[in-house]
Amino acid sequence: MELSVDVAERDVLVVGNPESARRTVARYTAGGARVVLATTEQARMRLAALADAASAGMAACAPMPDLLVWVTGDPSERAELESAARRLRIWMLDEKPLASMPNGRVTLVGGGPGAPELLTVGGRRALAEADVVLYDRLAPADVLEDLAPGAELIDVGKTPGHHAVPQSEIEAIMVQRALRGLHVVRLKGGDPFVFGRGAEEVLACRAASIPVSVIPGITSAISVPAAAGIPVTHREISRAFTVVSGHVPFDDAELAHLAGLGGTLVVLMGVGTLVQLVAGLQRNGMATSMPIAIIENGFSVHQRTTVSTVSEITGRLGELGIRSPAVIVIGEVVRVPESDDLDHAENHRLVAALAHLAR
Ligand code: SAH
Repeated sequence: MELSVDVAERDVLVVGNPESARRTVARYTAGGARVVLATTEQARMRLAALADAASAGMAACAPMPDLLVWVTGDPSERAELESAARRLRIWMLDEKPLASMPNGRVTLVGGGPGAPELLTVGGRRALAEADVVLYDRLAPADVLEDLAPGAELIDVGKTPGHHAVPQSEIEAIMVQRALRGLHVVRLKGGDPFVFGRGAEEVLACRAASIPVSVIPGITSAISVPAAAGIPVTHREISRAFTVVSGHVPFDDAELAHLAGLGGTLVVLMGVGTLVQLVAGLQRNGMATSMPIAIIENGFSVHQRTTVSTVSEITGRLGELGIRSPAVIVIGEVVRVPESDDLDHAENHRLVAALAHLAR
């Protein structure tokens, strides 16, 4: 069973050593508790003194802890400490010690498209164990203080001058902190390996011989269209989807290739090059009536979906004022949310599946 308690202004006695209990101490301190770190022996003596004072009806010299947290210590003394705590009506709980990592480590975490519920369980666990979190604009930053209590939070998406921290500097901060023995989490929007420069960060860690692992995330390329009800594939409508970056304009050969692919085209970072893209696709034979959807700020209260066609969107851009971050979807699947057939077909399929199960 999991309990959640407010530890603000509470006295918490942590049993462990500074290395293994570092995260525990940081977390309780961040929660507003008054934390004392003690060895098993120190904790035993403190509880004994408190018990003596209580039985003599005298004021104790140290405050009575509200909570005893066992991290590491002599296992044979744990039981004794537990019964002493029980007699004094002090709650006791166990927390996992930090594995000793002389060189620290780095975990790249895919933060998903922005909604905290779409951060994976593995990503949450890594954040809970982080000493340092480097995050940027598209990561679910609002909830970081809760998910990584006590960790140093570094916003590398923007500095006070609104300039992004250069990639080389992000890698340097990551490596330096890990070399100090810390667990660094690099939290990125979506999936770290989809236009996220995640692989460069992995290579930087490897070059410095720092253990590095990657926790994938839910990419905006699929989830943001889904937030607008648009599936990137749909039976008999699209059996392929291509994800491209519109960061740099496409050349003619690329436009011809993209126009000939069929299926669904998903464009990330494409707001700035949209006009050039739709013109190039039509020049290379894409039907002028091909639907396009632009989904801005997916999974936020500012989410907005614009549906148009590749020929009409350019004329509407001035009035729409479309801004990044946005995912652009080009393909027949854009019409799926409007199609009545979808619900009927899906219901039909479900009914058939249930009937089969009932047999
Ligand atoms: N690694 C990320 C993509 C990084 S590139 C991923 O897998 O999702 C950044 C681009 O992602 C943005 O320019 C935008 O096109 C898209 N994007 C990310 N999150 C988004 C969101 N919540 N809403 C709309 N677009 C988003």
